[in-house]
Order: sequence, then C-alpha cells, then structure tokens
Amino acid sequence: LVSRKWKVNPTSIDLGDGVFISEGDMAIMAGPCSIESEEQINKIIEHLKANDVRIMRGGVYKPRSSPYSFRGLGIEGLKKWYTAAREAGIKIITEVMQVSQIEEMYDYIDVYQVGARNTQNFNLLDELGKVDKPVLIKRGISGTIDELLYSAEYVFSAGNENLMLCERGIRTYERASRNTMDINAIPIIKEKTHLPVIADPSHGIGIRDYVEPVALACVMAGADGVIYETHEKPNEAFSDGQQTLNFRDSEKLINKIRKVFELR
Ligand code: PEP
Ligand code: MN
Repeated sequence: LVSRKWKVNPTSIDLGDGVFISEGDMAIMAGPCSIESEEQINKIIEHLKANDVRIMRGGVYKPRSSPYSFRGLGIEGLKKWYTAAREAGIKIITEVMQVSQIEEMYDYIDVYQVGARNTQNFNLLDELGKVDKPVLIKRGISGTIDELLYSAEYVFSAGNENLMLCERGIRTYERASRNTMDINAIPIIKEKTHLPVIADPSHGIGIRDYVEPVALACVMAGADGVIYETHEKPNEAFSDGQQTLNFRDSEKLINKIRKVFELR
C-alpha cells in the first residue's frame, strides 16, 4: 500500500494552519534533542518563529543507551511545551516509545515520531495505524530500506495513511561518524513510495560541523523535509549536544535549505 505502484499521487500531510508535509514543499522541523525546561522551550520557539519554521521537534521520552542518562521530562514537559507551541502557532513532533503513550500524548502533539530503536516494534506500529494523527517512522539503526517500507506498511494497512519516512543514518563499519547517512536511500525511497521522505542529518552524521553539508546534500537528493537538532547552548544540552546547532548556525542552515530547494 505504501508503494507508488499502488498509489501514484504523492501523499500530502496536512497539519493544519497552513502547515503541510508534502512533495513540492520543504518541511523544516527543528528543536532540541530533549525538551529540557520551560525557559528552553520559549527560546527555541522564538528562534523558530523568527525564521518562519512551523514545526518543532524534541523528545520528552528519550531512548538512551545508558539508563543513567537524562530520559526526558515526560508528559508534564509535553503539556508545557504544547501550551507554549499552540500560542505561537508551532506544531509538535515528538517520539512515542510505547503503546500506552499514544493516548497519553494524543491531545498535545501533531506528529508521532517512531524512533530508530522502535522501527520494528510491530505492536506500536499496529496501534499507531489506528490513530488519526500523522506518524513519522525513522529507519532502524541497522535497518534496510525494505524493512522500513514494511514498517510503514504496518501503519498504513491498519488505517493511518498520514505517514512519512525518515532517513537518519545507519550503523556501518565506519566509526569516524556516529552513523553513516545513507543519502542513496532518499531517491530510492522516493521512487518506491508515495510517502514524504524526511532527512535527519543530525543523527545521520552526529557531528555538528557537518550537519549543514549533509542536510543540503539530502535536499538535493530529493528529501521533502529536514529534521535537525538546535539548542540555545548546544554544549550544555542534556543529550546529543555534539551534533546540535546553535541558533546562528541553525538560521544559516534554514536559509541554505530554502535556497538549495529552489535550485532543485
Ligand atoms: C531523536 O530524534 O532524538 C532520536 C532519538 O532519533 P533516532 O531514533 O533516530 O536515534
Ligand atoms: Mn537526538
């Protein structure tokens, strides 16, 4: 069902208030790895508004390799974020880690993110298929393109057609970067499916200074959107600071993404 053979017209996702994720648009989603405080939320929102970015990313439930790392502010943090974002006209995308969180988060989010560690959590995918809110599925840490498409098939076949896919780098033998951003995957997935394809260069390379060139390469490769990490003080971020852009670099990136998109 997610194949272009089944549906020729590209899927367009309407988040309301004139915010779309679709072919021919360039959706920019930015924000911290983790939502940390009300103060931080307000600073990020201000930065996004100043640059006409309408979708904010951030985790309140974080999948951390170590159980001793910061694991997010949870639902109370999400509620505060929601209040501030609604007032500013900003949409929210955040990671859902387990089935029970789908309902808990429902009133406070615009897009559910399925993280790379949950791409093949088939129970979670089944349940997201029954929800009437958009879902972004990230590629698994060592997942193939076909495995990602089958994960999408779970959600789509259960009834939720508001779906997008995200290339966020895969684990390879190369350790010079956190992951290997599979730029090849972008045109391949675009050709195979009618779903929007989003690039996550932050997790894709994991090194702050290279987020911009990788992001721009993904735009040229045909991505319908870019999701990346930004923070008012990246070096003090609770998670993923090493790949997080400060506001100055984030603004530069936004402008370049829009310019490169026009060239396409
Ligand atoms: C994130 O977006 O912060 C995240 C944890 O991403 P991924 O699931 O791609 O590792
Ligand atoms: Mn992160």
